Amino acid sequence: MALGVPRGSILLTAEQIASRVDELARSISRDYAGKDLLLVGVLTGAFVFLADLARALTVPTAIDFLAVSSYGRSTVTSGVVRILKDLDAEVAGRDVLLVEDIVDSGLTLSYLVRLLRERGPGSLRTCVLLDKSECRRVPVALDYVGFTVPNVFVVGYGLDHAGRHRNLPHLWALKGHRDPGEGAP
Ligand code: 5GP
Repeated sequence: MALGVPRGSILLTAEQIASRVDELARSISRDYAGKDLLLVGVLTGAFVFLADLARALTVPTAIDFLAVSSYGRSTVTSGVVRILKDLDAEVAGRDVLLVEDIVDSGLTLSYLVRLLRERGPGSLRTCVLLDKSECRRVPVALDYVGFTVPNVFVVGYGLDHAGRHRNLPHLWALKGHRDPGEGAP
């Protein structure tokens, strides 16, 4: 029976991720002490990270999600951001923490920061699990970062390739480095 293990290598184990997510949650809980936090997750990739992060927080927390267009079957960024699902929550006056799985070019996150800022939040910060810092094309302020990773295509822990592998507990670097043909499991 196929186990659904990708062709590649483990970049970060579930244990390493869990321990870093706990550290992030401690920092966030400290920084937002006495406040009412609104976590905004970017679907679909951030759903696992957000679920773990949210459960480790010790401050009152509301949760909402945005969905944006993804790379689809390609692993190369298109630079085009499209809102597929907007927030249900009101953002005005609230302490908002935007939670994203991975920042590559920075186009998606910088667009979302601009979008949310226009809605007049009381405060707005960003939290990303993975930062591919060497790939940045536009500057974007990252307030909480799990790990800085090299320019490899990552799957697992919520991140997909062509819709697959989001359920894997570890983070994997796909073989064939950003090449969808070669790297496809
Ligand atoms: P950016 O707009 O910063 O170039 O890309 C952000 C989005 O691209 C992420 O939210 C994620 O959906 C996707 N992405 C970027 N790099 C990777 C990667 O290595 N693996 C996966 N699965 N998605 C990625």
